[in-house]
Amino acid sequence: MKIAVLREAAAGERRVAATPETVKKLTALGAQLAVETGAGLTASISDKGYAEAGATVADRAATLAGADIILGVQGPDPETLAGAKPGAWLVAALNPFGERARVEAYAAAGLEALAMEFMPRITRAQSMDILSSQSNLAGYKAVLDAASEYGRAFPMMMTAAGTVSAARVFIMGVGVAGLQAIATARRLGAQVSATDVRSATKEQILSLGAKPIFVEEVKGIEGEGSGGYATEMSEEYKAKQAELVSSHIAKQDIVITTALIPGRPAPRLISDAQLATMKPGSVIVDLAVESGGNVEGAVAGAIVERHGVKIVGHRNVPSRLAADASALFARNLYNFLSAFWDKEAGRPVLPEDDEIGQAIRLTQDGKVVNTRLLA
Ligand code: NAD
Repeated sequence: MKIAVLREAAAGERRVAATPETVKKLTALGAQLAVETGAGLTASISDKGYAEAGATVADRAATLAGADIILGVQGPDPETLAGAKPGAWLVAALNPFGERARVEAYAAAGLEALAMEFMPRITRAQSMDILSSQSNLAGYKAVLDAASEYGRAFPMMMTAAGTVSAARVFIMGVGVAGLQAIATARRLGAQVSATDVRSATKEQILSLGAKPIFVEEVKGIEGEGSGGYATEMSEEYKAKQAELVSSHIAKQDIVITTALIPGRPAPRLISDAQLATMKPGSVIVDLAVESGGNVEGAVAGAIVERHGVKIVGHRNVPSRLAADASALFARNLYNFLSAFWDKEAGRPVLPEDDEIGQAIRLTQDGKVVNTRLLA
């Protein structure tokens, strides 16, 4: 049973799908690991590190040859998979809605494509959940990115030359990334407030020592749909939220937005007019910029300035912490493969009726089979 680990080819992608730690663990299960030359360099892992952990290190053709499972961070260009064994698993974040043509090509190549971002949010799958592990790091890094763009300090400082007041930080969207952003901003000494459409997050905000800012008097405040995700809110709610945000953000120094709605463009949370009420020198980090953006005027892959406010729109924020992001991503993949490992077969087996398999399997036997893509 051979597992291939690819070097990522996407622009700006610095992560890798296996580490020496997971190479050792997968080898201990009985797999032979092949890692493409240079796969770990941008995540501070040398070819020697993989070789010492028991993997062979070779070019792409030799890495892919005869592989039963192919691991990646992002879905590879199907053309670069020529020579892959039909029936092999391709396990990565495959961006199924955004890269539909690639999914079709994986099917045509006879690959069984498994999209890790479709992992169900159930207790059993928590350790396999790449969205959580990567969002957590993104939330942390967003605060550091804001701090480095901000021309002032975060904590209150009482010095002989006078007092520096604490930065006011507002987090919009309190999922995995938002919770980590609150915790990080608090650790840096900021005064933190946060909002979400899911009322369940209020308690979480309070427990992290931040102030909840919520639209109170509108029906449907729960804002929670299936799987604990947010739903699209009513027009009345949106108007109330805009009013609340307008009065609050004018007093903030840093705003970090993380709001997403599965299967839809990111909700617009800050308009250009609202932005104009902020103090010059304030910083906004839009973590949803690649899904359409929470902030009007945010540009994916750039830091832009409007009305004296910097809007930070870095792409692929987890990749900015490539070593830790790779370590967690690789463990998510290992946890998935080992949970389904069949000792007799000497490889992982995904039962047809298993909830996880049904959720993540995109292609099988030459066809696209995932219900979310067929709907
Ligand atoms: P997400 O990335 O989909 O969205 C980020 C946050 O934005 C969410 O909290 C969402 O409610 C919020 N949001 C959406 N629209 C908004 C708006 N208009 N205004 C303000 N906020 C808005 O979220 P996520 O981090 O993936 O978490 C989603 C859910 O999944 C949560 O309930 C979380 O607890 C749950 N979860 C479960 C597991 C598990 O059990 N395995 C793992 C991770 C997360």
